[in-house]
Amino acid sequence: MSDTRKYVYAFEEGNGSDKMLLGGKGANLCEMTQIGLNVPPGFVITTETCLTYLDNPDQGLPAAVMDQVRANMQSLEEKTGKSFGGSDDPLLVSVRSGSAMSMPGMMDTILNLGLNSNTLQGLISQPNNERFAYDAYRRLIQLFGKVALGISDEAFDEEFEAIKERVGVKEDVALSARDLREASDIFLDVVERETGKPFPSDPYEQLEIAIKAVFNSWMGKRAVDYRREFNITPDMANGTAVNICTMVFGNLGDDSATGVGFTRYPDTGENGMFGEYLTNAQGEDVVAGIRTPKPIDALADEMPGQYQELVELRNRLESHYKEVQDFEFTIERGRLYCLQTRNGKMNATALVRTSVEMLREGLIDKTQALLRIQPEMLEQLLFPQLDRSATASPMARGLPASPGAAVGHAVFDADRAEQEGRAGQKVILVREETKPEDIHGFFASQGILTSRGGKTSHAAVVARGMGKPCVAGAEGIHVDVQMRKAFVGDATISEGDLITIDGTTGDVYLGEVAMKEAEFSNELEILLGWADETARLKVMANADTPDDATKAAGFGAQGIGLCRTERMFNAVERLPIVVEMILAEDASSRQTALDKLLPIQRSDFKAMLKAMAGRPVTVRLLDPPIHEFLPSEHQLEEELEQLRHLRDTVLGMNILSDTVEFMYRTADTHPSIDKMADPQLVDEAIDKKAVMLKKVRALHEVNPMLGHRGVRLGITFPEIYSMQIRAVLEAAAECVKEGLEVFPEIMVPQVCTKQELVRVKSIVDSVQQAVEAHYGVEVNFKFGSMLEVVRACMRAESLADVAEFFSFGTNDLTQATFSFSREDAENKFLPMYNENGILQDNPFEVLDIKGAGKLMELAVGWGRSKRDNMKMGICGEHGGHPDSIRFCHQIGLTYVSCSGPRVPIARLAAAHAALSEGPGGTQSL
Ligand code: ADP
Ligand code: MG
Ligand code: MG
Repeated sequence: MSDTRKYVYAFEEGNGSDKMLLGGKGANLCEMTQIGLNVPPGFVITTETCLTYLDNPDQGLPAAVMDQVRANMQSLEEKTGKSFGGSDDPLLVSVRSGSAMSMPGMMDTILNLGLNSNTLQGLISQPNNERFAYDAYRRLIQLFGKVALGISDEAFDEEFEAIKERVGVKEDVALSARDLREASDIFLDVVERETGKPFPSDPYEQLEIAIKAVFNSWMGKRAVDYRREFNITPDMANGTAVNICTMVFGNLGDDSATGVGFTRYPDTGENGMFGEYLTNAQGEDVVAGIRTPKPIDALADEMPGQYQELVELRNRLESHYKEVQDFEFTIERGRLYCLQTRNGKMNATALVRTSVEMLREGLIDKTQALLRIQPEMLEQLLFPQLDRSATASPMARGLPASPGAAVGHAVFDADRAEQEGRAGQKVILVREETKPEDIHGFFASQGILTSRGGKTSHAAVVARGMGKPCVAGAEGIHVDVQMRKAFVGDATISEGDLITIDGTTGDVYLGEVAMKEAEFSNELEILLGWADETARLKVMANADTPDDATKAAGFGAQGIGLCRTERMFNAVERLPIVVEMILAEDASSRQTALDKLLPIQRSDFKAMLKAMAGRPVTVRLLDPPIHEFLPSEHQLEEELEQLRHLRDTVLGMNILSDTVEFMYRTADTHPSIDKMADPQLVDEAIDKKAVMLKKVRALHEVNPMLGHRGVRLGITFPEIYSMQIRAVLEAAAECVKEGLEVFPEIMVPQVCTKQELVRVKSIVDSVQQAVEAHYGVEVNFKFGSMLEVVRACMRAESLADVAEFFSFGTNDLTQATFSFSREDAENKFLPMYNENGILQDNPFEVLDIKGAGKLMELAVGWGRSKRDNMKMGICGEHGGHPDSIRFCHQIGLTYVSCSGPRVPIARLAAAHAALSEGPGGTQSL
């Protein structure tokens, strides 16, 4: 039975779009040949052949493979007029690897194949060829020896260096024909010595061994590791092809050269040819760095005609591939050949610039311009980055918790950060871990470094929300707040020392490392403008302060999708009022505290409405359990004990020296203590703390996340929600009086039944009446509900009776869907679940489309069945991730809301989501 499978495709035959079968290099060699570019003749042995061979390597290549190879070699002989193994004008070939995914340097290529003592004479007999011929020969023996016979490079390099030394030259080019002849002889000996067999001289034997060696390199350790590291799965690339390509020589003298080029600058995106070349050299020399290559512009002087051809080649490549190309070329005695092309890898700056410029040049359309860039890549442009040319080595490493780099003086507590920040210093807040009461320190800092906690720790979440760099959980750092030092192995960071953190990589450096600022370029603006035109989803930002809102507007947010009012409560001058409100024994003293908070909240909301003038600002009423604003029980107990100790010693009038020291040591964090020499003041302080402790104990909850929070608070303490609602509506009324158009939205958290919404809505109605009467203007706003409780999703139809919009809070909804509490899950079992494939991803990072997503999809349908076109969005961290965004698009949400700096990423992702729908507009899930 004869094997009729097609294993081999001539460059004229292969389908340039079939990269799976022909590999990227082979497919492009076929395509370039077919569009008439000057590619040396050749053919491709398919990746399928590779897989067939690797199934059973001991059996060798299927017979039909070598038959087809022979037939194709004969046609190369016809095309070139040379003969393989011939002693006149021998045909030499390269045997090159190439899979569907580019894996630079992972697999092998052999050049000059077909040389032996006989064909060598054929080469030498050509005019002025002796040196070149021996050069090619010694290269073949070394490369073949290494790749096909497994001999180490050093075995050859040692001998070669010895020859150079003996002759007294530094560079290969300075060696004479005689020297290279000697090298070839010695190399032949090396092969025999290392393998016990002579170098194979039959060209077809060489060819077969080389093909098998390239196939085997697919399963070589280097290649296997690389695929694992970069998650290259068999559906992306399966097996390597072998490309057999007629050799052309860049090392035939000064009218020959070899080089690599980019059709545009891969770092800046500038529209100009970028590249390097070497005269009188063979391809691998440029990359190998044996000689220093020249910039491509020098070719214009050295070989003006060829340079012109190269420019034409560049133009044809771009106009054909419609993408920046990275190509290899060789000039043999004045004739230009193209040996490879592929899409160029570029940084984000270059991607954005080339998208905008190639569109303007008519090379690509808007869809292509948008789809060329993966949304996540924009991160490089939105945060300051460490200058990669700077060579510093990190002193410690933690988790990359919030991207971007920052430099500042280390400070060890939030108060100090605030003091220094106010004084105009750049600081990095260094803590073991952070708590909500550290928030003012975040505002004052350039970045945050913690030694404990994960990517979802308080520090990480808050820093991401603010767009500040954060390295979390750098466990090598031991922070000692008392000593105002941090210890890292043998090194010490003292307060005030300059440190640099890189939240993109997790690295921490002592001293200042050079940085590149974020570049929100004009081109990025243009590109994102197209994204907005294309997207159906609107992109809003989460912002808790007027400052965040202004920044979000700068990132192109179309509104604020989530303003967490409790973040506004945490500022140092406000927290005491909040505490006063919580400690209030009766409604009237609570009202006194609320009356103090009202103007503060009103002015915050007003500033945010102004920053977002013309766009919606969604204010979420108080959400967390109120004990979060109080110190912990443990902390209060400790403080009480210290105070009692102080009272005893002070009353006894025998102040021990360590007490004095204690008073001074704690003086700057507890400024009141050093005034407490008066026993009466100490007693008062003790009473206050005791009351607070009692309250904390009374408020204690077994499960705070499932406890007295959100709308439950609003219903039990209606005066709190009433104050917040009034602050929003008065802020809006004042804006309206100033002639501004504003769109406040009031959003209720943790809702699970319609009755809850009805109760809050009645407060809203009466406040609205009062405010409108007082200001004499009409206030337009929307009233809506968070959907973050499973029951709320199930009852979406009924909630839509009262709510005018929904916002999915996917952090809580994920917890509720899985019945996982986030911290426990992430610290205890989720990593193992992920490792064992029980769960593919961390659902708190990657939206669980199948579970939480299904609930969302159902709720969207039920809500809209009651209220046509009901506005619906998502807030929370999932809202900034491209995969979640695609899902939100597919289920028909109106908007996504994410942290300010992720807004540009989300805008592009929203456009991608719309484009992936296809022209028919069909939604597939
Ligand atoms: P890689 O994938 O590592 O770039 P290649 O197969 O492209 O490996 O080849 C390595 C080097 O040899 C490249 O510089 C290439 O241009 C050069 N080369 C490959 N085939 C030929 C050929 N037929 N003639 C001249 N140079 C070649
Ligand atoms: Mg190459
Ligand atoms: Mg929530």
